[in-house]
Amino acid sequence: MTLLNNSTALVVIEQDATGFSPINLKVMGAIECLRKFTRLTVDLLVVGKDCTAVAETAARIPGIRQVLVADGSGGEHQLSEALSPWLADLAFAYDYLVMGSTTFGKNLLPRVAALMDIQPVTDVVAIESTNTFQRPIYAGNALMRVMTDQATTLLSIRASVFTAVRFGELVAPVIAIAPPPAQVLSRLLSQQQVQVYTERPELTAARVVVSGGRGLQSGDNFQLLYQLADKLEAAVGASRAAVDAGFAANDIQVGQTGKVVAPELYIAVGLSGAIQHIAGMRDSKVVVAINKDPDAPIFQVADYGLVADLFTAIPELIELL
Ligand SMILES: Cc1cc2nc3c(=O)[nH]c(=O)nc-3n(C[C@H](O)[C@H](O)[C@H](O)COP(=O)(O)OP(=O)(O)OC[C@H]3O[C@@H](n4cnc5c(N)ncnc54)[C@H](O)[C@@H]3O)c2cc1C
Repeated sequence: MTLLNNSTALVVIEQDATGFSPINLKVMGAIECLRKFTRLTVDLLVVGKDCTAVAETAARIPGIRQVLVADGSGGEHQLSEALSPWLADLAFAYDYLVMGSTTFGKNLLPRVAALMDIQPVTDVVAIESTNTFQRPIYAGNALMRVMTDQATTLLSIRASVFTAVRFGELVAPVIAIAPPPAQVLSRLLSQQQVQVYTERPELTAARVVVSGGRGLQSGDNFQLLYQLADKLEAAVGASRAAVDAGFAANDIQVGQTGKVVAPELYIAVGLSGAIQHIAGMRDSKVVVAINKDPDAPIFQVADYGLVADLFTAIPELIELL
């Protein structure tokens, strides 16, 4: 295929508690899809305070021109109030501005879009051409095809559906640029890390996810799932009912109003399979459901179903594993 046009993309690198978030490798998977339609020059943007190590990791991503690193107190904690006007100025020079459709991206991209007076295309799950994208609507029950014709195309990527790129041998240049200026609109007062969660694989990047629902009956009983997750090197997720009941932290909620996951194996335990939950895990490769109700809707999306009391089945499974 002959690629007729050249274009440029700026990809905002996301950081987590460990530094470079694995989500970035999946966002770059989407960039690889875009490359099928245009000769793409890609710059990565790392912004923050003391973020040189993240920039050095990002520089090992193959096929990029350079990593722009904006290191300074104005970018500390990547507060979107500080980043958005600064990023809007930067982004005008590019054909594409791309980031993950994560809590970070959902906070930042709409602000940048408003400042640029551009309609963003959010939650992209497929790239059909240089300007045509698919995104889910109605809690993932339908896909919408969006065509955009704007000076800069602003995209947020549903990372779970794209294949992660691998780090390469070559290291791209890391170029320092001026960080965002300090601002007084907002500041970070405190940050709480859920310990049990950070010791496990990141939920949206995990190969295996074990999710629990209201059927677990209590937060203490969720320990059963953590034991099972330990055996499988899995991340733990939860239904909204389990989160609302206080059994699990809300940052592990899976679903329409939680995280979207697409692991190789999703084990749903004591959760009914409401459409809002399915919206967050329907792209999982293999789904296993354990529920005592044979009519639970989760069995309709499960590849393997076990009609059983979870308090008998999970200890047996842990024992066998
Ligand atoms: C706008 C909106 C957004 C929403 N977003 C989300 C979302 O992001 N994520 C989400 O999950 N939900 C979401 N919900 C809520 C959703 O509609 C359901 O209420 C919720 O998913 C139900 O959680 P559950 O399956 O844990 O609980 P339930 O529906 O109560 O199911 C519990 C299941 O456990 C089984 N069970 C009970 N005891 C046992 C046992 N001992 N052994 C085995 N099985 C047992 C029962 O048979 C039952 O099927 C949303 C709702 C709305 C309206």
